[in-house]
Amino acid sequence: MESKQGEEKRFKGIAASPGIAHARVFLLAQKELTIPKFKVSSDQKPREVRRFEEALLETRKQIQAIRDEIKESLGEEEARIFDAHLLVLEDRALIDESIHEMEETGENIETALWEVGHRYIAAFGQIEDEYFRERAADIRDVLRRILSNLTGQKLDQLESLPDGAILVARDLVPSDSASIDKSNLRGIVIDAGGKTSHAVIVARSMNLPAVVGMGDFSQRINHNDIILVDGYEGTVILNPSEDTLFKYGKLKSERRDIEKLMIEHAQEASVTLDGHPVKLMGNIEGPDEAEKALEFGADGIGLFRTEYLFLNVRRLPTEDQQFQAYKQVAETMDDKPVIIRTLDLGGDKVLSAANMPLIKEANPFLGYRAVRFCLEHEHLFRAQLRAVLRASVYGDIRIMYPMISGAGELRKCNHFLDSCKEELRKEGIAFNEEIKSGSMIEIPSAAIAADTLVKDSDFFSVGTNDLIQYLIAVDRLNDRVAHLYEPTHPAVIRVLDTIIRAAKMGKIGVSICGEVAGDPVMVPLLIGLGINSLSMSPTLLPNVKYVVQNMELSEARDLAQMAISENDGSKILENLLEFYTSRTAKLY
Ligand code: PEP
Ligand code: MG
Repeated sequence: MESKQGEEKRFKGIAASPGIAHARVFLLAQKELTIPKFKVSSDQKPREVRRFEEALLETRKQIQAIRDEIKESLGEEEARIFDAHLLVLEDRALIDESIHEMEETGENIETALWEVGHRYIAAFGQIEDEYFRERAADIRDVLRRILSNLTGQKLDQLESLPDGAILVARDLVPSDSASIDKSNLRGIVIDAGGKTSHAVIVARSMNLPAVVGMGDFSQRINHNDIILVDGYEGTVILNPSEDTLFKYGKLKSERRDIEKLMIEHAQEASVTLDGHPVKLMGNIEGPDEAEKALEFGADGIGLFRTEYLFLNVRRLPTEDQQFQAYKQVAETMDDKPVIIRTLDLGGDKVLSAANMPLIKEANPFLGYRAVRFCLEHEHLFRAQLRAVLRASVYGDIRIMYPMISGAGELRKCNHFLDSCKEELRKEGIAFNEEIKSGSMIEIPSAAIAADTLVKDSDFFSVGTNDLIQYLIAVDRLNDRVAHLYEPTHPAVIRVLDTIIRAAKMGKIGVSICGEVAGDPVMVPLLIGLGINSLSMSPTLLPNVKYVVQNMELSEARDLAQMAISENDGSKILENLLEFYTSRTAKLY
């Protein structure tokens, strides 16, 4: 490590989730399996071979079980990925060489396998060919599995998170973040990612400070180092001094007072000073989060990301299990609207039953994702649509399709919905015949030609996280280009204006459910552009409500005019910040 013990050192990243935490580091990057190393005598060698064979057998069973499960739920094509893993297990060269190594060196089988396996990985990894690099990754995965069976160590690292730690990791995929034991975690710092990565969304829903885009921070720090995470400014401080702790202690209590004040007002109506109502809704990832949304004053659920029901489970949820989850949310929210988004798997959201992507793609965010995936997995899509329909009698449930790229795709989705309705009618199962279905507008083609979608949509919800990444061609997970991710870019403003105009012409409602909806600096602009419903992580609701209650619609319209005629995104942001500061000055 660079700094001497005790020396304070500051690192700058991107502020991703507000809050301050001061605790020791749990470094995910270092949490590899521990490989025991010991000598074995000649008469112990047959036992080592036996242990190896048993572990191989166990590993084969585990991989086969995952393969069967994926085949049953998603089909043969996706299941074939695991054939490559089974082939690694059958590779006599790897097995025989490991046994030979153990016999030659007199070291235990774990050590021998690790040595031989890594020789293979290095050899394949050096070949400039995608195919061989993938083989190296296959060997690495299988090796980890065999070694975990040999040593009895769990592969799932996050379950063993120690109490009161700040998680530091190179990256955090949704299946990782879904398995975090929330009660043990104080904050999250990750090297990769922009403000809209799913790890951040999860951090926000857990009300934890998070800083992302930290470059190589995880390599410059050790397990159990003491750090302070400032999720307001995006700063991480290693070994904070007494002076720093004092300043942050004061800041933390000031912020806590403000948050307390806002939560006290959370149940008030969300109306501007001149009487214009703005619906504020919650984004949730599981049925239990609906309670929290109500607590923070949500007028409904604007986005239920249902893919989280499918991550980190041994078995994919059945129609009945989904029905129970959707019904629970509908009942919790009483008669308030609940927008259930159909599965948005793919991109960075991979099935964790497999703990790997469904299909390796060069550009997963432009690939086999969301409705593209569902339309080809009919039984999965139908089970979800049926579950949502069945739950629709328990509240004001609405359906929303993610990643719609054009009218043809939308019609196909609605066709599935109609046929599920027909099926339920025949079976005599009740559902809301008037159920509304809407489109997420998050692909530029859908945004620019939004007028072609109004006829078949009951509402639009703009997914700015994806829309901005596609419009500016800036990967939402790549910290190297995170500075280009600019919600106030004139192209973003113009496209939002286009979508809102199309919705108005078609007389349908339009809301925003991307992260900008929860950014109090952006909110007046969005309202001024004509948005009257915003959906965000529940913890952000009180702050946004405060801004709504302290502005006038006419001021918001002036800001929108300014943004539409301004050519420079940073000037737009400057003006928005100035307005925000003027409205919140009395808090500080
Ligand atoms: C979005 O893209 O803005 C959105 C809300 O969906 P997700 O973040 O789940 O892709
Ligand atoms: Mg999206």
